Amino acid sequence: MSKQRLTLQELELRMKFNNKESFFTKLRVKEQGPLIIAGPCSAESEAQVMLTAQALAKQDVHMFRAGIWKPRSRPNTFEGVGYKGLEWLSRVKQELGLKVTTEVANARHVEEALKYGIDALWIGARTTVNPFAVQEIADALQGVQVPVMVKNPINPDLALWIGALERIYNAGVTDLAAIHRGFSSYQKSKYRNVPVWQIPIELKARFQSLPIIVDPSHIAGNRDLIFAVSQKALDLGYDGVMIETHPDPENALSDAEQQVTPNALKDILERLQVRKTAYDDAELENRAEELRLQIDAADHDIIAALAKRMALVEQIGEYKKQNNVQVLQLERWKEIFRSRVEWAEEAGINPDFVAELYKLIHVESIRKQTQILNEDR
Ligand code: PEP
Ligand code: MN
Repeated sequence: MSKQRLTLQELELRMKFNNKESFFTKLRVKEQGPLIIAGPCSAESEAQVMLTAQALAKQDVHMFRAGIWKPRSRPNTFEGVGYKGLEWLSRVKQELGLKVTTEVANARHVEEALKYGIDALWIGARTTVNPFAVQEIADALQGVQVPVMVKNPINPDLALWIGALERIYNAGVTDLAAIHRGFSSYQKSKYRNVPVWQIPIELKARFQSLPIIVDPSHIAGNRDLIFAVSQKALDLGYDGVMIETHPDPENALSDAEQQVTPNALKDILERLQVRKTAYDDAELENRAEELRLQIDAADHDIIAALAKRMALVEQIGEYKKQNNVQVLQLERWKEIFRSRVEWAEEAGINPDFVAELYKLIHVESIRKQTQILNEDR
């Protein structure tokens, strides 16, 4: 008889049912506080691993991370210490009582990590993109109960991320979490990997009981942005943070710019504000409800204004057709973009947002007029 394959929808149902029992939920000490995972990008030496872990064991850190097999862009750079690092992680677990986690990229990594009692595994962004590799890991996990965290794929493809979670879930792993580490982009940005927040938000919306952990180190690529990215994630209801921490970040063998010292981590964690998931009492909830009603009314006005605009666009479309004039009037559109952005500034709203909005309005206006021009032909 073939094994029943469950979908991630079914996973959600099941996780809702036993969410309180989930490995990741149980690790969180304070009911409201996030799950905290910290440790170096790479395990470099036994001394470095122990020194970092000793400092982190004194803080509110729940799990110690360290990469042992490092996926590097170029060969002949530091590719991790390999299997011997597992012994160091096992020492951290035994001597300091911290849970430990490392990245696995193939079946052999999984088998060895399990032999050394690694508490949780994570799948890296470069592995999530490859269904063959994820399936190989899933096959190695068949019949084993170990928590697994799946990082988002390097490209902004939600289906690929969900697919990897499903492959691992289908192997029988129910303690699953997602890690948001940002996405590669060819566009210049202040981030090493752009967050594209709507992708993890959509994941959260679809699988409400799947814990989501932010990895601000890989999103930021620079330690100065770690606090802001972490705070934003918590404000969006994320369940945890994974922050790369090294005793001497500047001299780290990988990801030197984005690691923080244990002291800096302490400072970041102290500054992070954990907000409540709901209002404390009915009166506060009522005030929010009043504001929501006003927002609804404002949105009605916006839709009505758009409908009016589109009706005018239709009229001008007819007029252009009668006079056999082309749809796109470049000078007019340049003027619209210039003036609307200016109006936005005067009204005190973000001009970039208004510029984006007008790009969408432009596309729709052109579509509408082109349709009119080609009707009855
Ligand atoms: C890491 O966590 O050090 C790592 C290699 O991450 P990612 O897979 O997100 O690049
Ligand atoms: Mn790293």
